Amino acid sequence: MMLDLAIVGGGPAGLTAGLYATRGGLENVVMYEKGMPGGAITQSSEVENYPGIKEVVSGMDLMAPWPEQCMRFGLKHEMREVVRVQKASHGFDLLLDNNETVAAKSVVVCTGGVPRKAGFKGEEEFFGRGVSTCATCDGFFYRDKEVAVIGGGDTALEEALYLAEIASRVYLIHRRSEFRAAPATVRRAEANEKIVFITDTVVEEVYGNNMGVQGVRLKNRVSGEESDLSVPGVFVFVGYDVNNAVLKQEDGTFLCEMNARGQVVVDLSMRTSVPGLYAAGDIRVEAPKQVVCAAADGATAALQAIEFVRHQG
Ligand code: FAD
Ligand code: NAP
Repeated sequence: MMLDLAIVGGGPAGLTAGLYATRGGLENVVMYEKGMPGGAITQSSEVENYPGIKEVVSGMDLMAPWPEQCMRFGLKHEMREVVRVQKASHGFDLLLDNNETVAAKSVVVCTGGVPRKAGFKGEEEFFGRGVSTCATCDGFFYRDKEVAVIGGGDTALEEALYLAEIASRVYLIHRRSEFRAAPATVRRAEANEKIVFITDTVVEEVYGNNMGVQGVRLKNRVSGEESDLSVPGVFVFVGYDVNNAVLKQEDGTFLCEMNARGQVVVDLSMRTSVPGLYAAGDIRVEAPKQVVCAAADGATAALQAIEFVRHQG
């Protein structure tokens, strides 16, 4: 059977693409999600910035009604991992993890991404309970409190500047004294009196109790000196990997244009460089990495896919 649309990934972008595509009249729409639908936000215990949801809710609770709403209009979910999307004469072929190949006229890729871990003790244990990888999501919880930011790239420096607007002090902890971030961004952070630079220093451990993080244990890499910093919040920005493997072809090239960071290049309509192929959510260039934005991308991509499939006849 030929699908009108195949959706890869069942987070906010994929589910919303499914909702708009099926409700907009596409017949055979399948969302391939290797796990339970819901996406990365289901790891969060507190979400309070999804418009219309006034209460603070867990990511699980926020996403729980989304699949049912989509299925009502005919979206099908297949719990499969897509290994590769490739071009075919009819449009696209999707190679699945059970070696099955599925044909589709159009595809929306919504596979998201994963923030890298720094690797210190307590990082996993306190993730979501004081350790965060998202200042937009969690910065508000540290209004007038002190926080630590880990990393020396553009993301760490820019997010430190963002957090300095909310927190009373931001300790920027970087393992070297040279920064990867743009010199102008480093200068802006240095000029901000709320940001304290701690360089040549690694975080050995984040510690706390069942209420959350209480502090970090640091080690200076030059002097070997160890110290403690009492902070309730630790933001880790040591890189971000987008899940772009499905777009990688057998010869190692990508199916569509990507930027240097491995994100899919799209226009404002979520169109990639290949007609009929769309990308939505955290995998695309300039993604704000927010549920509301990923959902909006999914809707935009689906509306384009509907047009594309109708013109194919
Ligand atoms: P994702 O949600 O990452 O979904 C991608 C899906 O694709 C996953 O379910 C994955 O299993 C699936 N997938 C990947 N590869 C394949 C494959 N090959 N085959 C099949 N399936 C595949 N945003 C907010 O707006 N507010 C918040 O408070 C907030 N807090 C957050 C807290 C945490 C701890 C985290 C991790 C994120 C938070 N975010 C928050 C960000 C938000 O979760 C993301 O921006 C959003 O989920 C992105 O949606 P997406 O659909 O693009 O990708
Ligand atoms: P990045 O440039 O790779 O920087 C990651 C930082 O984290 C580096 O300083 C690195 O230290 C540090 N780090 C890595 N692993 C660590 C670990 N285990 N423990 C402690 N520190 C660790 O990542 P990014 O900041 O996310 O940026 C990614 C790309 O996006 C870059 O090309 C960046 O320029 C770009 N970007 C651009 C903008 C912008 O133009 N406005 C904004 C954001 C991102 P070392 O330096 O010692 O390796």
